[in-house]
Amino acid sequence: MSSGSTLPDVSGSCFCGAVRFSVRLPTIFCGHCHCSMCRRSHGAGYVTWLAVPRGQFELESGESELARFGSSDHGTRSFCKRCGSSLFCESSHYPDIVDIVLANMHGPIDRQPECHIYFDDRADWVVINDALPRLGGSTGREPTTGGGR
Ligand SMILES: [Zn+2]
Ligand SMILES: [Zn+2]
Repeated sequence: MSSGSTLPDVSGSCFCGAVRFSVRLPTIFCGHCHCSMCRRSHGAGYVTWLAVPRGQFELESGESELARFGSSDHGTRSFCKRCGSSLFCESSHYPDIVDIVLANMHGPIDRQPECHIYFDDRADWVVINDALPRLGGSTGREPTTGGGR
């Protein structure tokens, strides 16, 4: 891990392959998000994201297939118009960072998921048994008491 320049690029795509992109390691974050926007836009109990500085993200094809949806006053979510895969989330609060859905990557990245965020907002049918930190509060990233499940 001491010489980041030797880390590989990792490619990713949507389900149908129309949208292709690559991420240059190292990432700066990987974690599970339990917010209701992630849950509903992905149709999933929670969504595992990685984050990289914008300069380490490259959209390689499919710009014309990418739909952008303003999911909040500061957030924009992107998905493939053809197959519906949710792909990216960007926030005007953090303009230099791109969040990317881990499940769309084609190879391993440089870290494992390291925490749960927006844990207070989790679906009550989601059961988490891991020992990762459970963060919540108004920012979604503050320490919580951990919940009971
Ligand atoms: Zn697609
Ligand atoms: Zn979320």
